[in-house]
Amino acid sequence: MPTPRTPAASDEDHRAQMEALQTEMHAKMRAAKEKRGLLIVHTGDGKGKTTAAFGMLTRMLATGKKCAVIQFIKSGADPLEKILQRPTLTWHRVGGGFTWDTQDRAADIASCREGWDLALRYFADPDCAFVLLDELNIVLAYDYLPKDEILTALRAKQEMQHIVITGRGALPELIELADLVTEMREIKHPFKAGIKAQRGIDF
Ligand code: ATP
Ligand code: MG
Repeated sequence: MPTPRTPAASDEDHRAQMEALQTEMHAKMRAAKEKRGLLIVHTGDGKGKTTAAFGMLTRMLATGKKCAVIQFIKSGADPLEKILQRPTLTWHRVGGGFTWDTQDRAADIASCREGWDLALRYFADPDCAFVLLDELNIVLAYDYLPKDEILTALRAKQEMQHIVITGRGALPELIELADLVTEMREIKHPFKAGIKAQRGIDF
C-alpha cells in the first residue's frame, strides 16, 4: 500500500491525494501482468527472516500445492513442522546445530551437501511449487558449499517454482539474482536486554 507523501491539510486534499494514489496503483497493477516463480531472499540481522518464510509457506500450503522445506544448520524442530504437517509438505532438517557448537567443519560440510542434494531434487520436481532453504545464506557465508554451484542452480530454476532463502549476510550475487529481497533490520532485540529466547516467539 502506498502512503501519502505529506499529511493532507483538508478533507478535500485528502480526497485528491487518495485519487492520485488510486490512479497510480491501478496503473502499476495493469503494468504488472506477468506471473512467475520468484527467487526470494530474507536477510539482515533483525528477527523475522525464518518466521516470515514460514508465513509464506503456510499461504502456499493453503493453495494445495506441493512444498518443501530444507533447514540447514538446525538441530531442533520448529513447532510449525508438526502443525503444518500434511501430504503436500516435506520437511528436512540437516546439520547438527550451529557451527560454534559442533566445531566439526567436515561434518557441517557433509550435512550441507546432503541438504543441497535434496534441494536439487525439489528444484527438478515440476509439481513442487515452493522450496524453502532456511539459513542457506549462513551456509554460503561459511563457504560450506561452493557459491558458484549454488548460484548456477538458482539461475536455472524452474520458471513457476518459488524458492525462498533465509539467513544473515546474503551474498551480493544472490541479492542481484533474486526477485524479492527483504532485509530485517534490528532496531531492538530482547536478547540485548538479557531476555532469553522464548517458546512461541523464537521456537
Ligand atoms: P526467527 O526464526 O525468529 O524468524 P531469524 O530467522 O530472523 O529469526 P536467525 O538468525 O535465524 O533469525 O536466528 C534465530 C534465533 O535468533 C531466534 O531465536 C531469534 O529470536 C534470534 N535472533 C534473531 N535476530 C536476533 C538478534 N538481532 N539478536 C539476538 N537474537 C536474534
Ligand atoms: Mg532463521
